Amino acid sequence: MESLNRVEISAEALRHNFNICKKMAGEAGVMAMVKADAYGHGMVDCARVLAAEGAAAFGVAEVVEGVVLRKAGLTLPVFILAGIIPDTVETALHHDLTPVIVDDEAIQALDATAGRLQKRVGVHLKMDAGMGRQGTVPADFRRLVDKVNAAKNLYPAGILAHLPMADAADGRHSAMVLDVFNRCIASVRDDLPATCCCHIANSGGLFTVKDAQLQMVRPGISLYGYYADGESGRAKYSDDELLQPVMRFVSRILQVREVASNSGLGYGHLFTTTRPSKIALIPVGYEDGYLRCLSNKAEVLVRGQRAPVVGRISMNLTMVDVTEIKDVSVGEEVVLLGKSGDAEVNADEIASWMETISYEVLCLFGKMNNRYFIDERRL
Ligand SMILES: *Cc1c(COP(=O)(O)O)cnc(C)c1O
Repeated sequence: MESLNRVEISAEALRHNFNICKKMAGEAGVMAMVKADAYGHGMVDCARVLAAEGAAAFGVAEVVEGVVLRKAGLTLPVFILAGIIPDTVETALHHDLTPVIVDDEAIQALDATAGRLQKRVGVHLKMDAGMGRQGTVPADFRRLVDKVNAAKNLYPAGILAHLPMADAADGRHSAMVLDVFNRCIASVRDDLPATCCCHIANSGGLFTVKDAQLQMVRPGISLYGYYADGESGRAKYSDDELLQPVMRFVSRILQVREVASNSGLGYGHLFTTTRPSKIALIPVGYEDGYLRCLSNKAEVLVRGQRAPVVGRISMNLTMVDVTEIKDVSVGEEVVLLGKSGDAEVNADEIASWMETISYEVLCLFGKMNNRYFIDERRL
């Protein structure tokens, strides 16, 4: 039996977004970021769609995710972007995953294992060009390149860095990081193969930073329909080039109650009615990722109209004030994320109620609910 709560993933919207990213990438390949279960959208299902559309590679954080892609039969290069430690080298090389090294810790294990498997392995070197989180800083980069070159069974197949301010509406800081990255690469160019693949652009870099495409781009959030700079990003584009949210989160009404004015509702009576009200109950709660901090704040869609969430969101029940919506009945669809008629609630709006970013909302809803991959976009 199907759950009353559904997360729907539109393959068509995913294809649309991928093709917008591909167009912006120009000559550069698109590494589709499918880490974190494709930001909650389902890694293997999304990877299949993205491979068919022409992705050049996949990006994940850890080796285990790469193994899942291989076991599902996906053959494109898979980058282990969070880096690799000696313990995971054997598995990574066995499955032909592309190691990203952040310093020299894993070089010896990689070289020895590559030798044993009789492979020559191309590794990508992560530079800290201004992110301040992970990688090797430009001043130490030549030493890292030298160490990879000195390893018999390894070669520097690529260099990458990450942008810290890609959510800024203007790309000034990112342009500076890009410049540091390019200069450092130029300084070690003689020690790199001509085919060395350089990449830095996440979604923000791809959409806002001039000349950030290089040989490959790594969009994540944009594939799933959102801009790194949130709604200010969406406002910049015309309809036909707009990214389309891929995820929808819907539930169904369990009960509709008539409640007198001045009634306290739910735990702590967090909401008190100020008029005779009609309250609909839906089987959604913090257990489903509809977090308690959305209490008295969120809005949902019923029959294409907005309705406020009232009172405390509990583990499995949420109350919606549908006083102003006609003929609401048990079993009807309630849209928590996505479109209903002409109305829409998107993940940026939910993120603003939760004081977070769309990424977290998508990971949360996608992970905590039954997911259905659908081919047709719901309008
Ligand atoms: C997650 C990630 C990306 C994608 O970032 P978005 O902002 O989702 O486009 C790109 N590169 C690296 C290294 C990442 O970890």
